Amino acid sequence: MSIERVLEGFATAFGRPADGVWSAPGRVNLIGEHTDYNEGFVLPFAIDHRTWVAVGLRPDRTIRVASASVDEVGTSTLDEVGPGAVAGWSAYPFGTVWGLGQVMSAGGASLDAARGFDAYFVSDVPTGAGLSSSAALECSLAVALNDEWALALSGPDLVRATHLAENDVVGAPTGILDQSASLLSEEDAALFLDCRTGESRTVSLGLVEAGLTILVIDTRVTHAHADGGYASRRAGCERAAAALGVKALRDVAVADLEAARGRMDEEAYLRMRHIVTENQRVLDTVAVLDATGAAGIGDLMVASHVSQRDDFEVSVPELDVAVDTSVAAGALGARLTGGGFGGSAIALVPDDLVGEVTAQVTAAFAEHGFKEPKIFAVTPSAGARRDR
Ligand code: ADP
Ligand code: MG
Repeated sequence: MSIERVLEGFATAFGRPADGVWSAPGRVNLIGEHTDYNEGFVLPFAIDHRTWVAVGLRPDRTIRVASASVDEVGTSTLDEVGPGAVAGWSAYPFGTVWGLGQVMSAGGASLDAARGFDAYFVSDVPTGAGLSSSAALECSLAVALNDEWALALSGPDLVRATHLAENDVVGAPTGILDQSASLLSEEDAALFLDCRTGESRTVSLGLVEAGLTILVIDTRVTHAHADGGYASRRAGCERAAAALGVKALRDVAVADLEAARGRMDEEAYLRMRHIVTENQRVLDTVAVLDATGAAGIGDLMVASHVSQRDDFEVSVPELDVAVDTSVAAGALGARLTGGGFGGSAIALVPDDLVGEVTAQVTAAFAEHGFKEPKIFAVTPSAGARRDR
């Protein structure tokens, strides 16, 4: 049991008992890819893989972080954790501390009177598989410190703090999708999030009643050029928005696409077409889920994959084989999830075909000479919380 493990780890690392245990989940994005930084819509859900943190306050302003997954223990103080000050994995937890300070300052308060802490992390969220282990790490600590320091920050405040950590201290220019999913999700539901306003609502998934399972197919491919690819996709979106004189591609409708084609370079047009149609697919998916349930969203998932493959060009052969084989084996839909260039696909599979889909995808990977994929079911789970 991970709660016991994290308490033991804390005691061994720091020679005293912890005050409590908190946790936050990784996430899968059901649909809505690369729309977040275009001020559009996303529909993630939290998964049943979590990062647990045991925290104990200290009498001084020192902060120390240790993790079962890393040897290096990070040490700093509450006053030295801003952008540029931290390297390595400590940037995530220390950045979270700084982000909380920023959000407190914006509300006219501060962390000047806060006590330092020791924290120990244990996680079963795979890292770098597109399941957002980084947000799970940040968000577990954010809910812990919100309680320990009695900050009374809201869920959206904690999203802001952890998003600041990832953008400004870690230096990853991502949107609010990951942290929102990890903090705000509810059991058996997806989170419909408007990345322009930050407003969100829970959309019931009802997978158990529908007899459906969501499989994650981790291709175990990580592409070295993912960062550059991400930056160039963002740049394409920005060129398209500038050419049309809109603040963000959120402001373009599917009906505007054809007329816009000649007004920018073709690459920018294709990037835009993915974003604009993907926003519409998120809205359509939410409408179908509300009206008839998850059994009806398979075609939207496949259309999302095709758009990411052909227009946004973030797929790789492993992801295409995962998606095509899943659907051929009886999945209702499948798509790459996360930023692309590797990572994971998801498939929506009738419960009785889970074995078949798993076997066929595994066989197809072997046939193509790909690395063996990791295939596992995920359960839509509750967001960050106190466990003990
Ligand atoms: P993803 O969020 O998709 O898993 P990222 O590259 O955004 O991938 O984040 C992964 C990084 O987050 C790891 O390389 C590591 O630095 C840090 N990390 C995540 N989980 C842990 C953990 N439990 N302990 C220490 N570091 C972690
Ligand atoms: Mg991440």
